[in-house]
Amino acid sequence: MHKIYYYYYRILSLSLYHFYHFWENKQSILKNGVILMFHHITDEDVDISPSCKCTISQFTSILDWLENKHIPIISLDEYLAHTQRYKKGGFAILTFDDISENVYEIAYPILKKRKLPFTVYIATNFLDKPGYIKKEQLLKLNQESLCTIGSHSVTHCYLRHSKELKKELNESKEILEKLTGKKISHFAYPYGTPFAVSLKTIYTVWKSSYCSAVSAIPSTLNKLTANMKFYLPRIDNAEFLKNITKLQ
Ligand SMILES: [Zn+2]
Repeated sequence: MHKIYYYYYRILSLSLYHFYHFWENKQSILKNGVILMFHHITDEDVDISPSCKCTISQFTSILDWLENKHIPIISLDEYLAHTQRYKKGGFAILTFDDISENVYEIAYPILKKRKLPFTVYIATNFLDKPGYIKKEQLLKLNQESLCTIGSHSVTHCYLRHSKELKKELNESKEILEKLTGKKISHFAYPYGTPFAVSLKTIYTVWKSSYCSAVSAIPSTLNKLTANMKFYLPRIDNAEFLKNITKLQ
């Protein structure tokens, strides 16, 4: 058990360290890798936190910026198979949480046109709810070779406080596996920060049949974070956009 304590505190301390140093050294986006986190891609006036909203032009400008800087966008599986690739130069991984219907209707066609791989993390209780992706749309994404489907729990709760942690992990996985007919191997912690994710949460995911989990700790994939497969850092669209504009 001491190993997991070490793992957890290493994540927290190094992530905080990197949070403060990352933006001082913005070139690290170019040097290392980054997992980007998106929620809504829309021009509509939705009542959500700014970090969860990305307009269509902001979304395409992030993709354009990566392309212009020759930063390849790779799939999560490609990264997990070669976590040491962060040493070879910058790359980006695109991830979407929850999943709202605008991700399917707006982001997906843009990604398909540009042939860019992406991962969607589904909170299974949101499926077919107003504003969220419908099962039939998810099945279309399931046919898409660019798309990886992952779980984002059943109820989208603070897993740190959940009395049904295993159910949140296992039931969402089973529902998605039944729907897609594929193995669901990737998980995203709802809310993703240490306020929502405890050591026990990480340990339980680690010991489950998932093979990766992403957080909302804002850092790049670098020599300190690259191998933290069950608490990988991610940078949200607003933070990323704010900082890349300074890199132009
Ligand atoms: Zn979420």
